[in-house]
Amino acid sequence: MTDTINDLNPSASVRPKNADFDVIIVGAGFSGMYMLHKVRSLGLSVRAFERGSGVGGTWYWNSYPGARVDTHSIVYSYGFDDELQQEWEWSETYAAQPELLRYANHVADRYDLRRDIQFDTTVTAAAFDDEAGIWRITLDSGKTVSARYYIMASGILSVPKKIDVPGLDSFRGELYFTNNWPKDRDVELAGKRVGVVGTGSSGIQVVQTIASTVDELFVFQRTPNFAVPMRNAPTDPERAAAVKANYPAFRAATRQKSDGQFADHFPINESIYSVTPEQREAEFERRWAVGGFNILSTFNDLFSDPAANEYLCEFFRRKIRETVHDPRTADLLTPHGHTIGSRRLMVEMGYYEAFNRDNVHLVDLRSEAITEVTPNGLATEKNQYDLDVLIFATGFDGETGPLLAVDITGTGGVSLREKWSGFPKSYLGVATSGFPNMFIMVGPGSPAVLTNVIVTLEYHAEWIANLISYMETNGIDRVDAKADEEDRWAAFVISEADKTIFPKDTGSGWIGANIPGKPRYIKVYVGGLHSYITIADGVAARGYEEFTQVTTESIAAARK
Ligand code: NAP
Repeated sequence: MTDTINDLNPSASVRPKNADFDVIIVGAGFSGMYMLHKVRSLGLSVRAFERGSGVGGTWYWNSYPGARVDTHSIVYSYGFDDELQQEWEWSETYAAQPELLRYANHVADRYDLRRDIQFDTTVTAAAFDDEAGIWRITLDSGKTVSARYYIMASGILSVPKKIDVPGLDSFRGELYFTNNWPKDRDVELAGKRVGVVGTGSSGIQVVQTIASTVDELFVFQRTPNFAVPMRNAPTDPERAAAVKANYPAFRAATRQKSDGQFADHFPINESIYSVTPEQREAEFERRWAVGGFNILSTFNDLFSDPAANEYLCEFFRRKIRETVHDPRTADLLTPHGHTIGSRRLMVEMGYYEAFNRDNVHLVDLRSEAITEVTPNGLATEKNQYDLDVLIFATGFDGETGPLLAVDITGTGGVSLREKWSGFPKSYLGVATSGFPNMFIMVGPGSPAVLTNVIVTLEYHAEWIANLISYMETNGIDRVDAKADEEDRWAAFVISEADKTIFPKDTGSGWIGANIPGKPRYIKVYVGGLHSYITIADGVAARGYEEFTQVTTESIAAARK
């Protein structure tokens, strides 16, 4: 289904021949790298711009002690090339950051990606030129480049949350941020007095890793989170061989699942109320013993029924009490007031045990809030903590943050920042109306945040590449998500979320609550990956009817 040029933009008059590149991609993390590879396979010219000095995105920046993926590496890896997945050996069930970064570099080398990536370059603005029908991209050098297609692959967690504590510059010790850990030197923490602010996934990984090497460790916790044991282990060669023998089937199975996780998980499609209390606890125990996200798929109503979720919360609370010796510390580490899964479940390796050490001290910021950073350490309402090293593990302006960090304007000069000042409407999380030929990897409205993101980003890259290929084959110059289709998708995202516990957690970063002033909406499609793929495949099969499409012919006709 195509529309005339006038439906999309009456002033447009030429098919863009004058762009520097066919495609410009922002970011060379796992999304951007695969998108680049896909676009090249279409025979298009492409340039990716990357803020860092190397590939890897998240795994480039977050090189803090203990950084490690919380998804099984055998599925937290690309599945698009059987040779790649056969030749790569993961050393552990859950790979640590250095190994993940080696993998990203291996992929970049193997497919010679670097020749089309410009590193140390930040894209600051992107504007659609209605007249020429191309995107004009501004770089931090002040230079502009242009392209027919503009793809944001800037990640979900790439803009650090601003530290809102006064006095940061006055600190005379060593100051670090987990999301921008030094890359040019080793950070020596042994024998020092160290403070860690933040107890999300990054904070707990730092704490459990450095507890035994530092002299004294002060953990500044505002909100305790739920954490499940990881039970990481060296790769079992027999297991790895079995997976490799069936890798395509494993990959296909991940796309059939709602979370895109390891196909070996054992979901039970039963209500928590269909089993006895003894069976319920036994099932929780079985999954606790296996470790990782398995426990989230124990029953099918854990995310729709708060009372069902509360059984799991109580199970976790009991485990904390059993592990942490000091009852007061155990109590402070025990989450109340939010559900499991409405914030990312943390996957730990000895986090709770760390608090049984004499040199580890939990500081409860709910009873003594941080007032300022001082030259010697951190001051709270009640105490001064003298520190040699202060580490902030305070998170990110997630999901929309990286997209809105670039000043993007679409048709008629409409600003994305303005358009998304309320609910960030997108179509399928990959496009947004009024921004023709702009595509988003893992944007708001995608299921990515609740899934194994590698599986979802591979699907997005393939879907976007297929749409571009369709355009090239059919002489279509511009596509733009139809506003009414986008409205329908936004309403669907909201109504699906309303059936679950997710929007009810008013403190969750997933609704933007961690960033002061950020509009609070659940921005993820909670219906799951498999359901999403079914919908998005249908859109492609029907010829992308949900997009306004403008052909070369209609442009020629408009010219006459
Ligand atoms: P996060 O989950 O947003 O946690 C930030 C922590 O900092 C929270 O404990 C927060 O407390 C605290 N905080 C923020 N501002 C503060 C302030 N001014 N004073 C005191 N405390 C403050 O960030 P993250 O741990 O970096 O994780 C971000 C995302 O990355 C998560 O989705 C996570 O799952 C993912 N991640 C995954 C892995 C993995 O795969 N293993 C590892 C790391 C991160 P409040 O909760 O009270 O705001």
